[in-house]
Amino acid sequence: MEKEDIVIDKISDTPEKSCIIVIKHLFPWSESELDAKRLDELNHCFEDAFLEAASYGCVKEMCIVGNSNPELKGNVYIEYETWEEAALALERIAEKNYGAKVVKVYSTDIKSLTAMRCEGFEHKQCEKSETCEKFHVLPPAPGLKKDLLEWCKLRWIAEKDKPIHFP
Ligand SMILES: [Zn+2]
Repeated sequence: MEKEDIVIDKISDTPEKSCIIVIKHLFPWSESELDAKRLDELNHCFEDAFLEAASYGCVKEMCIVGNSNPELKGNVYIEYETWEEAALALERIAEKNYGAKVVKVYSTDIKSLTAMRCEGFEHKQCEKSETCEKFHVLPPAPGLKKDLLEWCKLRWIAEKDKPIHFP
């Protein structure tokens, strides 16, 4: 094949089209390590990650998981309205560090965050503990997530009415 024959398709060049990305191990504590002070940290972490995520697109859902499973511990999952927003966030967040922390961010093949929640954990009785592969979602302060999601939605609705501005 001649070099000229190679056509790079910008869309299929993006390997995943998932709307959900993950920031790995951002929150340092698991479900069993939480105390009042760390709960406070959870709220801060949730808010910081959300505000960062919201600058790249409309966040539909977000959660921090507290599984003891080392693969899942402290992961922050962010679901966007569109995969384009997720792709942009992936690129931008990957360029950043948080404090001394090097952030590792990946796309996922998860279709729905709601479907990933561990029902047992929601009822305080997950028996799989460390081997559980469903999310043990650490809930931030009541109202915090709802307020952020509503604010984000309004912000991006307003954004759509503006002319597109290329920096
Ligand atoms: Zn579980």
